[in-house]
Amino acid sequence: MKLAIVVGHNARSQGAVRPDTGETEFAWNSRLAKMIEEEARLFPRIRVKTFFREYCGSYRREIAEVYDQVDAWGADASNELHFNSHSSRTATGTEVLSSGSDASLRYARALQERMGAALGLKDRGVKVRRSGRGSESLMSGRAPAVLIEPFFGSSPEGQAATDEEHEQRALARSILQATQDAFL
Ligand SMILES: [Zn+2]
Repeated sequence: MKLAIVVGHNARSQGAVRPDTGETEFAWNSRLAKMIEEEARLFPRIRVKTFFREYCGSYRREIAEVYDQVDAWGADASNELHFNSHSSRTATGTEVLSSGSDASLRYARALQERMGAALGLKDRGVKVRRSGRGSESLMSGRAPAVLIEPFFGSSPEGQAATDEEHEQRALARSILQATQDAFL
């Protein structure tokens, strides 16, 4: 099966910053995407390709264009990578946004379980988003789509669970395991 990884935000507008390392969502998730590609060697039935959003002055067009590329590749599922952020440092946990379709929900639940086991953070659950923040990424493409927020970059707990390479690799692997659970 073909899994499209979409890195959230873009090189010009990089999203939230984690204060412990100064890394943006775009930088952190570009590395995670590379790790997912590397770890995919352990999952011979999953083909992974990473897609980047390109700033073009229109948010709508930026999303439409990247998901057109995902469709053109023939993806069986898409997963857009983010991390959460909040003004309160106590906000913490793992959540996955779903379009609400059967396949998207199945994938979102598998991710919630596998990423929860990998990171050990609070389970904030699967959230169906049909409008508002993130919804266009879930509705634009043909393939079942999810958007993950594995941790809060603003949370000391979220930072501690994701600042070491072995933790990032475990997260990458958990995303592939969930893909396997849901689609193979
Ligand atoms: Zn984001």
